Amino acid sequence: MRTLLFSSQHYDQESFTRASADTPLDLHFQSARLTLDTAALAHGFEVVCAFINDELDSQVLERLAAGGTRLIALRSAGYNHVDLAAAERLGLAVVRVPAYSPHAVAEHAVALIMALNRRLHRAYNRTREGDFTLHGLTGFDLHGKTVGVVGTGQIGAAFARIMAGFGCQLLAYDPSPNPQLLALGARYLELPELLRQSHIVSLHCPLTEHTRHLINQASLASLQPGAMLINTGRGALVDTPALIDALKSGHLGYLGLDVYEEEAQLFFADRSDLPLQDDVLARLLTFPNVIITAHQAFLTREALDAIATTTLDNIIRWAAGKAQNLVMS
Ligand code: NAD
Repeated sequence: MRTLLFSSQHYDQESFTRASADTPLDLHFQSARLTLDTAALAHGFEVVCAFINDELDSQVLERLAAGGTRLIALRSAGYNHVDLAAAERLGLAVVRVPAYSPHAVAEHAVALIMALNRRLHRAYNRTREGDFTLHGLTGFDLHGKTVGVVGTGQIGAAFARIMAGFGCQLLAYDPSPNPQLLALGARYLELPELLRQSHIVSLHCPLTEHTRHLINQASLASLQPGAMLINTGRGALVDTPALIDALKSGHLGYLGLDVYEEEAQLFFADRSDLPLQDDVLARLLTFPNVIITAHQAFLTREALDAIATTTLDNIIRWAAGKAQNLVMS
């Protein structure tokens, strides 16, 4: 089965080549992102394998279907970037990887918290310059702090377990409460109350029409002064320009982002020789209490291997008429 992987990086090639060794799949790797302009590259490929910043709107799907594609195999859990109604209309099946390593993402969220709190990004630069002073590096004990978990599915639960280990009090918001969180002693609250009571808020819900800009000017104002916000979910969960005002006033004390609303045009490419055209991102990067990583929370060896294995299994089962992990509109 001819399969084209868009947006594939060298680490994708390694994990997919390893995982496909004993399969009948014929994998082709393409570093280009899938857009209307690059969709023609998939002509004659029955399976297109896409990642989070590939475009899968109706126009792109129409072009893929016209070129003979019948399956979209997502290498991600999230599918907010796929026009599922258009896929259904065009007879394109869509499969995803519902879980690969919730620990990878949860641990990255914790890494952001730790680095922001203890100013590791500043300390790293300082000691390398021979500056061994400590001013401005004062952190706080995580023990006893209140952590709000927004979205308590697999990643939110893994994150909550780690924070419980630090001795944090857990608050949670999710339309479907998770018994694992209750077992950790978490209290489920409505979102405004969670925001009011938390020292740290971490977002782990999917991007939907209900969660777009869940964190906005009003919700930022309801946070405790000096609170920390972590987003490893999806960029558009947060109204990004509103973050700048909250950081400038000092009301938002710390910000850790692994995802950015406009990341599709930026992330996963080396743009270090080019002027940064995105003024919102450029301003965010000037704050000393902000750390931005370029959608790397998933990037562990274990997660990459699991993504490759499940994606290939999804394709093989679909070809055998026993589709699994289908995404429906
Ligand atoms: P999951 O489906 O296990 O959990 C999502 C949870 O969010 C569910 O419990 C659901 O009830 C809850 N939810 C739905 N609507 C909500 C709302 N309006 N408010 C609060 N909670 C809501 O998914 P998961 O595997 O835990 O992944 C969560 C998200 O993390 C994904 O949707 C994806 O966007 C993101 N993600 C990011 C990375 C990364 O590399 N940064 C990697 C994987 C996933």
